Amino acid sequence: MKLANMPYPFNPPTRVLMGPGPSDAHPRVLNAMARPLIGHLDPEFIRMMDEVKAMVQQAFITQNNLTFVVSAPGSAGMETCLVNLLEPGDECIICVNGVFGGRMVDIAERCGATVHRVDTEWGRVTEPDQIRKALDACPKPKLVALVHAETSTGARQPLEEISKLVHEADSLLVVDAVTSFCGVPLKVDEWGIDAIYTGTQKCLSAPPGLSPISFSEAAVRVLDNRKTKVQSWFLDLTMVKNYWSGAKRAYHHTGPVSSIFALHEALNIVLEEGLEARWARHQVVHQHLRTELEKRGFRFLVEESYRLPNLNSVFLPDGLDEVQLRSQLLNQYNIEVGGGLGAFAGKIWRVGIMGESATRNHVNMLVGALDELM
Ligand SMILES: *Cc1c(COP(=O)(O)O)cnc(C)c1O
Repeated sequence: MKLANMPYPFNPPTRVLMGPGPSDAHPRVLNAMARPLIGHLDPEFIRMMDEVKAMVQQAFITQNNLTFVVSAPGSAGMETCLVNLLEPGDECIICVNGVFGGRMVDIAERCGATVHRVDTEWGRVTEPDQIRKALDACPKPKLVALVHAETSTGARQPLEEISKLVHEADSLLVVDAVTSFCGVPLKVDEWGIDAIYTGTQKCLSAPPGLSPISFSEAAVRVLDNRKTKVQSWFLDLTMVKNYWSGAKRAYHHTGPVSSIFALHEALNIVLEEGLEARWARHQVVHQHLRTELEKRGFRFLVEESYRLPNLNSVFLPDGLDEVQLRSQLLNQYNIEVGGGLGAFAGKIWRVGIMGESATRNHVNMLVGALDELM
């Protein structure tokens, strides 16, 4: 590239986002990012962060005091939960039924923990009996971790019965709620979740790059009783938590001010709609999508009872070229849908109807485009 060609203007196309994330953002959220910058230690900013914390608690349905937002995407939330709770030599149980369970195993091993994997076929969910067996082999794990909404397959993991087993073993329940948060029922306190992380770009419909998290009192006790330093400086909660503690806020890193403006607005929108109404909307739009896709010969990967409404994994009708059709949707209609991951690459589509993208209009646009292309 020659310098003489500068500048390089970049005007992104206006897409309809129906993949595994990011989802479409509300104009109010995009406008929030254009607000003037203020200092991240400005009393006005601190007041707004307190509101963000209170709204994240409401959206998680938790009273947990250690609830805040990691200044990095969902993957960093995953890493925050694991690096703070695990020490070298600890044992843990991690359930793997898709890409994201596999990532948790990788992180836990990097923490020096011994991981007992509970593997389940992709597209299915972990059964309580599998946890019972794993607890027979490893009766005192530090934690048991699962993915609530496995975005690589579209499976929704039931958590309540497993939570009982985990607590009977005096262990902590760690949950990945990146795709479930604000899209399907999720009740942190009622379900006994000890450490949870999520992302902003899925059903919350805020820009990517932040990760709301929450730790129960039991998880905080484990954190307080660590014998070794947390292996990550940036994600060490013993330090970061002071950054989010209101008036005592001290410099740790420079908070992503504009992104937090957007998150504040997105949480307001969620709470204005109401969690229950939002969960119901995702379900209703999912039914519409399902009817329309099945009419056209698409088949769902996940059994109906465990199907996520907001992430729809479907096999294409025979004879269609997955890659070609997906790129025609993007290039001719500006509609993004996701391809398959891992074992399902080239075999399925992942159609996201998340947050602002969960409307009948989105579904109608997608199936209208498909009718013209197929
Ligand atoms: C998207 C996703 C993540 C990672 O979030 P990023 O914001 O992409 O880092 C983790 N877990 C699940 C289940 C996800 O869907």
